[in-house]
Amino acid sequence: MGTVEYEIDLLMRLVSVDTTSTIRKNFEEVADLLVYEARKASLIAKRVVDDKGIPHVIIKIPKAPKKSRKIIFLTHYDVVPAGEDWDFDPFKPFIKDGKLYGRGAADSKSNIAAAIAAFKEVLEEGLPIKINPVLVIIGGEESGEGTSFYNKLEGNVCVVLDSGCYGLSVGASGVVSLIIKVFGRQAHSAYPFLGKTPYMIRKNNFIHR
Ligand SMILES: [Zn+2]
Repeated sequence: MGTVEYEIDLLMRLVSVDTTSTIRKNFEEVADLLVYEARKASLIAKRVVDDKGIPHVIIKIPKAPKKSRKIIFLTHYDVVPAGEDWDFDPFKPFIKDGKLYGRGAADSKSNIAAAIAAFKEVLEEGLPIKINPVLVIIGGEESGEGTSFYNKLEGNVCVVLDSGCYGLSVGASGVVSLIIKVFGRQAHSAYPFLGKTPYMIRKNNFIHR
């Protein structure tokens, strides 16, 4: 099986597993599948369960130089809930006009398939490895539950493999965490005249809405 055929086959099987993020559906199953696939390709694979009980998978290339720059390739196996109104079963993937359809086919199972296939190819072709690549496939990315796990990862560079293949970019979908102080006086909505809203003190430039 060529690399592309391998990727498509793996992607088909990954999309067939419903890994809905919010209910942690089949997290164990897909983590086991990924470890199995990686080991079958003679890669080093292990499952790490975080303090929330979510399994994540770490994959390495056996002969990679450990002391070289560690490049983490980070992606995820969980998917956003499929919701209603699909024309087909979102977990029964199919190919039409050269495209593979199904929940998570792009975000982010395509990246898992591509990365495992790439690691496998590097190993099989005996290509020289100058870096220390580590593929980290997490659960709970879409729900945010996996954040505490991947925040602790250490390496020289992290390449986030997510969604489509539009190219390599620096920074996307940033997260800003703010503490907002609202000045005013709280009041029940039935007695709004008792309250003092931030809007009223807007002229002081304290806050705006
Ligand atoms: Zn994603």
